[in-house]
Amino acid sequence: MAIKRSDTNWCGWGWANTRYDFHGQRDTFLKWLGKQLGADLVGTHIPPVNPEDVLLPDVRLNEADLADLVAAAGGQEFVQQDHMSRLMHSMGRSLPDLLRLRRGDIRNAPDAVVLPTSNEAVADILRLCGERNWAVVPFGGGSSVVGGVEAWDPQGRPVICLDMTKMNRILAFDPENQTATFQAGIYGPDLEAELAKTNHILGHYPQSFEFSTLGGWIAARSSGQQSNQYGDIHDMLESCVVITPKGELVTWTGPVSAAGPDLDMCIADSEGTLGVIVEATVRIRPKPEAYQIKAVLFPDFAAGTAALRAISQADLKLSYMRLSDAVETATYLKMGSGNLLKEIGLKALSPLGFKDQKCVALIGTEGSLREVEYDVSRAIAICRAHGGLSVGSSPTKNWHRDRYLHPYMRDDLLDAGIATDTHETAVPWSKIGVVQKEVQEALEAELGRHGKKVHVMAHLSHSYPTGSCIYFILMYPLNQDDPIGQWRPIKAAISDAIAKHGGTISHHHGVGIDHKPWLSLEKGELGLSLIKAVRREADPSNIMNPGKLVD
Ligand SMILES: Cc1cc2nc3c(=O)[nH]c(=O)nc-3n(C[C@H](O)[C@H](O)[C@H](O)COP(=O)(O)OP(=O)(O)OC[C@H]3O[C@@H](n4cnc5c(N)ncnc54)[C@H](O)[C@@H]3O)c2cc1C
Repeated sequence: MAIKRSDTNWCGWGWANTRYDFHGQRDTFLKWLGKQLGADLVGTHIPPVNPEDVLLPDVRLNEADLADLVAAAGGQEFVQQDHMSRLMHSMGRSLPDLLRLRRGDIRNAPDAVVLPTSNEAVADILRLCGERNWAVVPFGGGSSVVGGVEAWDPQGRPVICLDMTKMNRILAFDPENQTATFQAGIYGPDLEAELAKTNHILGHYPQSFEFSTLGGWIAARSSGQQSNQYGDIHDMLESCVVITPKGELVTWTGPVSAAGPDLDMCIADSEGTLGVIVEATVRIRPKPEAYQIKAVLFPDFAAGTAALRAISQADLKLSYMRLSDAVETATYLKMGSGNLLKEIGLKALSPLGFKDQKCVALIGTEGSLREVEYDVSRAIAICRAHGGLSVGSSPTKNWHRDRYLHPYMRDDLLDAGIATDTHETAVPWSKIGVVQKEVQEALEAELGRHGKKVHVMAHLSHSYPTGSCIYFILMYPLNQDDPIGQWRPIKAAISDAIAKHGGTISHHHGVGIDHKPWLSLEKGELGLSLIKAVRREADPSNIMNPGKLVD
């Protein structure tokens, strides 16, 4: 059952009535964080504006346009123009998005939100938009954190938001070949619920799982929390159907093909700029019998990194593998997530070398009981050889409980005047240390220029034999006068520090408006012009999500 957007937080994350509980220690945590940032947070409360008071730009469609849109969509009930629908489809869920929403600073909003229910309706809508020269923004869960769904057209044309979430059915289930076909607007929990009926899973669990869709995962090339075992979304993609302004593209279905470049890989991370993904066939697998996750302490991040590299390069099937740096480890302990860790007496471990640089890793997997036992115990043995100490499964229970709840904390901290932003990259193992250090330094320098402090946490997740994703979470006191003006150079400082060492501008968040300036460094001029040529061929009038991948 698709989520009702009216039940979700119009200017924040998830359900409107859910908050992060900080394990009952909110004030203690805020006091501690305030000390790190030199700010008094406990009494601070800066609420968002009332959504009804937010001014939206005028609608640029006339009555005849609207009638044609209704006809293309298949009925009045599939076209929305009310204030809240336009507001809630105006942008995604990045930090700058939340800052603008909370202040009611909305420069772009769709002229109409259309909710197609069939491939034919999508084709008709694109045809009409092509004829009228209107821009189209495909919209799944709207959880983009890179400006991928901003209702903006660089040429200033009217913008139609194509909300795909009514296209949310399973179309085929093929146990013999272990595939299933879904309409692209299905949300994560609905997709897994369909597969659970036959005891299967897809195994794609991004932190945004509850509020993001299959089409959005593919279009932003998403990666889930268990990607080490199940792969990133493009590894799970068997084939797809994409409706472009030039017609329908159906990619080849089968295990593997050497017949020219893989078109599915062209669609993955195309950010809706080539067309609308309407169906996708994905690789599924039987539901695993068991899972096990253990926490391992390392004396420092370098030791933990060496252990994760050794595990990734060994022939082991681990799904969970996440190493927090010392700051993230300390922060989670303060948030109450580590009560059980505390119980086992962290202080008592100090003489053994686990001092203020200690880092925690979560290591685990899913599968048959035998496989799980074997893979986890071999991984723990590798950790031990790198100075790690297994502290058992208990400390991982809170992480498992909170894995979809942590994003709610961002809204609470915004209330307290603190920005939380995330940024991720992937680099070879040999560059992890230097990238982590230089991002930290770049952030301290940028915030320091304005007399502010920053709290930077990093973790490794999504590991590969040749390297890993580094995920940064940063918190800093907001400049309430100009929070977007404050954010821009911070974003540039992180991105430049990563690009300097050849890191990708995104391991899994995608490109969007926010990462576009760094794309040419990674693709090169010729690479970028090839992408533009493909885009020109699929969408000659440049109506599909303009400005979100290339100019
Ligand atoms: C709190 C939070 C946690 C997150 N955690 C993760 C994580 O763990 N892993 C991860 O990979 N990402 C994560 N993200 C980022 C985001 O959830 C992903 O990029 C996700 O894939 C977006 O899916 P969506 O359905 O919300 O797509 P949207 O945000 O609606 O769209 C994303 C992009 O895809 C395009 N698009 C959407 N649907 C279609 C379609 N049917 N056809 C063509 N184009 C389409 C849009 O135009 C846009 O360019 C997180 C975001 C938030 C806010």
